[in-house]
Amino acid sequence: MLREIADREPREANADAPAELKVGYQGEPGAFGEVAAAAHGGVPVPFASFEKVLEALGQGAIDEAVFPLENAVVGAITEALEPLASAVLRGLDLVATSLTSVPVRLALSVKQGTPIGDVKRAWSHPAALRQCTQRLAALGIEPVVCYDTAGAAKIIAADASTDAAICSRHAAEMSGLDVLIEDVSDRDQNSTRFVHLRQADHARARVPLAFLRTSSMTATTRLDVLTGATLLPLAGTPEHPVRMWVLGADAARLQALAPARDVQVVSLGQPAPHASRLPPKEGTAPAVKSLPHATARKPATVVEVGPFKVGGGHRAMIAGPCSVESPEQVMRIAKEVAACGATALRGGVFKPRTNPYAFQGHGYEALEWLAAASREVKLPIVTEVMAVDQVQQVAQKAEVLQIGARNMQNFDLLRAVGRAGRPVLLKRGAGATTDEWLGAAEYVMASGESRVMLCERGIRTFEPSTRNTLDLGGMLAVRPLTHLPLIADPSHAAGRADLVEGLARAAWSAGADGLIVEVHDDPARALCDNEQALVPARFAELARALALEPNAHLPLAQLRAWVDAIDHDLAELVKRRLDVARVIGDSKRQTGRAVLDPKREAAVRRTYYEALPGAKQLADKLVDLLIEAARAQQSIEE
Ligand code: PEP
Ligand code: MN
Repeated sequence: MLREIADREPREANADAPAELKVGYQGEPGAFGEVAAAAHGGVPVPFASFEKVLEALGQGAIDEAVFPLENAVVGAITEALEPLASAVLRGLDLVATSLTSVPVRLALSVKQGTPIGDVKRAWSHPAALRQCTQRLAALGIEPVVCYDTAGAAKIIAADASTDAAICSRHAAEMSGLDVLIEDVSDRDQNSTRFVHLRQADHARARVPLAFLRTSSMTATTRLDVLTGATLLPLAGTPEHPVRMWVLGADAARLQALAPARDVQVVSLGQPAPHASRLPPKEGTAPAVKSLPHATARKPATVVEVGPFKVGGGHRAMIAGPCSVESPEQVMRIAKEVAACGATALRGGVFKPRTNPYAFQGHGYEALEWLAAASREVKLPIVTEVMAVDQVQQVAQKAEVLQIGARNMQNFDLLRAVGRAGRPVLLKRGAGATTDEWLGAAEYVMASGESRVMLCERGIRTFEPSTRNTLDLGGMLAVRPLTHLPLIADPSHAAGRADLVEGLARAAWSAGADGLIVEVHDDPARALCDNEQALVPARFAELARALALEPNAHLPLAQLRAWVDAIDHDLAELVKRRLDVARVIGDSKRQTGRAVLDPKREAAVRRTYYEALPGAKQLADKLVDLLIEAARAQQSIEE
């Protein structure tokens, strides 16, 4: 029944008319937004979604936008505030020029001649439906969500059912509907407050309006008392669990009063002296001024060498022995890790050892053995260079040059690898701060190499039970400062094989772009770092847990184990989906919302189409099954 809503282009302006103020709103002509848009003599321009309104405002296609902020019955209009919040945080520079309060009378409207007794369902915008939950329940009418109030009137006019629309009288009349009940709002004197927004350089702000991002509600509980503001809490994201809009507050005062650490104030409508607290925009100053390359504000750097691709959502697994010990040893291990889905082969030929009498690596000869293994398994090489005079020769054979932890501040070496024309994996020094680490990356980049990967490999702490302490906090702290890929090395952090898988999983879940893991098929006889090496079978388990893609060289029994693990996960996920669907059903019933939502169903289908390109039939079957099961969970009878 719900037809596809095409995104409308803004109406063409009449070229002869004097310059008019084009004001965008979400919805169809006749929507409450249109009233707000016309409030100051503007020409209302309808858009299918709030996102489209903001896009048009950003492109200058309209002069102003109106957004519903707050309704007398239900409070914050989250549908509008979420897109507004994300546009502001993406850097759309807006000011609020005024607020308009629009009286809201929600007319229950039907096709001519439909008696009220026949009305079983009523269509409207979710925010409008929330405003008449109780009345509809008392009338025994089921709410049905659609994209707009006036749009609901259009749907009902074109439909053969006895459903109703909830919209303004004006919208009902425009669609030729009869009004059965003038106002089904749960409260008299319903109204919605709209904010008028313009691009910052197009207007001088007049209405104080601020937007807070905060990780805790308690941090802001007293702000309304202190500033006299109206706080509109919004559901947040996992990253920022609570967000609030603040109406009528003095943003500067708010800023001064807000607990500094976890509250970010973004002001609409006042000059923003606190702009320095906004996340810097792309194309503007680097996050750390003195590090213009490593902390430049730009899209994620993706380092790509053959099958190895890391950064910007691409994830990598670098695996292999600590040191290359013989042609056979590296060939065997290379085959094992490649079969498990590793995307690059590691192996040291120059080894930085604490004891000068310990095995120092087989040098250039071992580089040949490593190269042969790399060719055989078609994985690029990651290997360490320890001295400036090694760089050129190693760079001829190795696709990625590693700077070891001990050399992180060997500035001549950093400059030399920066000129070698190869991507660089830069280990963090065991005693280096994250700033020093970024500084080292800057050396490489300033010398010409932009493809730098930062590798957290554990820092030295007082804790003796591990060789180092994997500093995932430090790794995460670097994430917002840099566009470079972040790699974690659980092997050198742990120093013991039994902890490698746990640390690897932790780093992976924390969002590391890649891992580098040491693997040896005879750890007891390994010439270096024997205690931390994973045997191939355990590496396979890790690879399976991280959902790497095995190849056909993996023995069949192991491939089966791989698929079994996926089935297990899939079944678990299906169970979780059903559980959450049931909770959603309960929640909707408690809040009086329609349990069935055709728009949601379409969105679920889209998710599966996107995840399963070229397998539409499979996607449809899966969605049909899931929806059928979810309905059973939500006890909906067809
Ligand atoms: C290595 O990767 O083998 C190595 C020596 O690492 P790090 O420099 O992190 O100790
Ligand atoms: Mn090692």
